Amino acid sequence: MNRTQRFVTWLFGPGVERESREWAYECSQCSHRESVWDTGGIRYKANAEKSYFGRCPACGHVGKRWLRRSL
Ligand SMILES: [Zn+2]
Repeated sequence: MNRTQRFVTWLFGPGVERESREWAYECSQCSHRESVWDTGGIRYKANAEKSYFGRCPACGHVGKRWLRRSL
């Protein structure tokens, strides 16, 4: 947990970590998932799925990565 995550958790409670773990970046090539929390980020009280441009740490594919919530 980094400083920002610690601060936001202190502010909003443990739901921040739980929700941030449900959100993950998904590779469009190999479907590798990486949770927002594990990348040091926070996603809380959000529901829109977005696509980002980035590099997949699993297969090295550079391109679209979906930010999706797992149910
Ligand atoms: Zn990949």
